[in-house]
Amino acid sequence: MRQLAMVIDLNKCLGCQTCTAACKTQWTNRNGREYMYWNNVETRPGRGYPADWERRGGGFRDGNVRTDGAVPSLEDYGVPWEYNLKDVLFRGGGGHVTPHYNGKEARPAGGPNWDEDEGGGIFPNAYYFYLPRICNHCSRPACLAACPRKAIVKREEDGIVLVDRKKCRGYRYCVRACPYKKVYFNPAVNQSEKCIFCFPRLESGRPQACAVQCVGRIRHTGYMDDRESRVYRLVRQWKVALPLRPDFGTQPNVFYIPPLSPPGFDEEGRVAGAPRIPAEYLRRLFGPGLDDAMKTLVAEMQKRAAGGKSGLIDMLIAYVHKDMFSY
Ligand code: SF4
Ligand code: SF4
Ligand code: SF4
Repeated sequence: MRQLAMVIDLNKCLGCQTCTAACKTQWTNRNGREYMYWNNVETRPGRGYPADWERRGGGFRDGNVRTDGAVPSLEDYGVPWEYNLKDVLFRGGGGHVTPHYNGKEARPAGGPNWDEDEGGGIFPNAYYFYLPRICNHCSRPACLAACPRKAIVKREEDGIVLVDRKKCRGYRYCVRACPYKKVYFNPAVNQSEKCIFCFPRLESGRPQACAVQCVGRIRHTGYMDDRESRVYRLVRQWKVALPLRPDFGTQPNVFYIPPLSPPGFDEEGRVAGAPRIPAEYLRRLFGPGLDDAMKTLVAEMQKRAAGGKSGLIDMLIAYVHKDMFSY
């Protein structure tokens, strides 16, 4: 079995949501999918999308024990409201422009990136960074393990995890089981749906929409067994790309270059030594490989800043767009 994977460089993410729009307009803007964001970009620290997904359970804990989590409510994802622009501006109805959902005025209290740029820390040591998330096309998918109808499949040729529409009956065991909450229930068709890693695009020679449209050039894709691919080099060779919440036990195939940060200030306002983003926070997100990855990144950046050469930093700068994708 081969495995297609993605590396996302958090040091270059602008939070521009171009990736979100690329996926949304292509796959989820209609037919019961309006609330879904197969690609979302959330501010960290923050509640994420759906709200508090990290605490909703699922995955494999204590080694092999698969656990069921909770199915988030529509409010946890955020109701997909529209503004009543047509009524107020074009139909002479008067009144104010307000959010509407299901024909009624809505008062949304949450949604994707609701807590944008709030972050954490206390001034002058406040901090935040962006975390783009898609389905991890896990090597050990909890969604697949939980489905009693065997309606979730992992393709042999590329490891992409898909819902088989002929078999799915909308039981939502997969939604409970995925610890990343990256499989969604579509009430319009009573089936589960999820990121398809843009397999129809790949099969016609085009990279994933969220990756190729990325303004910051932060997403590298390729096969894990292709030693020439950026993914192999960043994950296996340089070991600077890390899985998200590896403790969930699903063996994700989306990896992250962890975010560096400027040093914080001490009580006198002087520059102090420790990075602004607490290492323990990043360790919780990216696991035990964090410290070595950070050391390598800092050392290579310093080498390059001093006028030396660094293949790693050149790769992360991504001078040539097409070199980021091998599939
Ligand atoms: Fe399944 Fe969730 Fe892993 Fe995607 S991230 S393969 S939905 S367990
Ligand atoms: Fe959406 Fe394709 Fe990106 Fe998956 S790989 S999040 S389907 S754009
Ligand atoms: Fe970040 Fe790229 Fe998405 Fe912009 S398009 S939010 S830079 S991942």
